[in-house]
Amino acid sequence: MESVIIVRYCEIHLKGNNRGYFERIFAENMEKALKGIKHVIRKQSGRYVIEEFDEDNGGQILNKLKNVFGVHTLSIAKKVRSSVDEIFGAVITVAPLSGTFKVETHRADKTFPLNSMQLNAEIGGKLLGHNKNLRVDVHCPQTVVGIDIRENGTALVFGNLIGGVGGMPVGTAGKGMLLISGGIDSPVAGYMMAKRGMKLDCVHFHSYPYTNMQAREKVEELAKVLGEYSCGTKLNIVKVTHIQEEIHKKCNGDFMVTLLRRFMMRIAEKLAIGCGAQCIITGESLGQVASQTIEGMTSSGSVVEKLPVLRPLCGFDKNEIIERSRAMGAFDISIRPYEDCCTVFLPKHPVIRPKINDVLAEEAKLDVEGLISEALSSLEIMKI
Ligand code: ATP
Ligand code: MG
Repeated sequence: MESVIIVRYCEIHLKGNNRGYFERIFAENMEKALKGIKHVIRKQSGRYVIEEFDEDNGGQILNKLKNVFGVHTLSIAKKVRSSVDEIFGAVITVAPLSGTFKVETHRADKTFPLNSMQLNAEIGGKLLGHNKNLRVDVHCPQTVVGIDIRENGTALVFGNLIGGVGGMPVGTAGKGMLLISGGIDSPVAGYMMAKRGMKLDCVHFHSYPYTNMQAREKVEELAKVLGEYSCGTKLNIVKVTHIQEEIHKKCNGDFMVTLLRRFMMRIAEKLAIGCGAQCIITGESLGQVASQTIEGMTSSGSVVEKLPVLRPLCGFDKNEIIERSRAMGAFDISIRPYEDCCTVFLPKHPVIRPKINDVLAEEAKLDVEGLISEALSSLEIMKI
């Protein structure tokens, strides 16, 4: 009896004329996720079936596919010929040992001698006879035994569904440039945008030697975790030490974070345009820390000239962000205690609601373009 995996997808069915395009990218992303593992992906109406893999790799394939955006649910299924006996033989292998169940048949092959209701009754009755610890509950069963009668003379038989991550296939919604810091929030922000189908490039700003190599390695690891969901990513690494030193030397120190953010945004926009990204993404959440007031966001956002700035976590509580960070597998990396550049020269009393005229007056003391060029000359790009 051959094991296969059924993949059901989200929202793509809503896409009308573009459906073929979404499905093609979705299938490509599954191929990427399963690279190096023997398998064949076959398309059926409204779903995909993974076949011809080694039985031992079933669990690994499930784990990989669970994290592909666009996957709604998955089932490990048995593929048999469409006869009541063979179907029942498969049902025994996927049915629970005890508890309540119901059988649900979907019949694409209308020539199959029993209709769906009749097959449900037939298989349900046989299963009750086979295992006295099972009971039928058609309203709220613990397990649904699914039977799919295909048109090619085969049937797929499966137990409970396994939830996927949902969302849209990465690559169907353009590309964004994520400011990634090494904290908890920005990897989650990237995850949320990738979940809606956006490809990601990342930029990280460091202040070596004030920040150390471990801080940088941490960001590389976070980008790698993110890349598992976003079908890979590129990490741009830019040094901003000289900018912080200049601000420290020439400006009111209370504006350090405010001014630095504006430099980050300008540099991120240049990199974004250079690589074809269509927006800038940050991990800001309204009111979370002093620099994340609406005034702070106005100040940092106002230097971005051509692209929208997306802040997918803006309305999230910290707890909700932490929950997502854990679920995506980033949390344990994010909480490693290495400083990022925002904590270098941190003022005791940072401005919380910066007035734009005050910001401009402080910034006027700096050679903005010169400092940006110097930062860009330090650019390193890593493919993750
Ligand atoms: P995070 O957990 O992402 O670090 P945070 O709560 O620490 O967020 P801030 O330090 O105020 O918040 O940063 C706000 C956002 O600015 C971050 O989510 C990130 O998008 C961006 N950012 C901050 N520092 C850096 C950095 N060193 N490199 C790249 N982006 C950064
Ligand atoms: Mg931070």
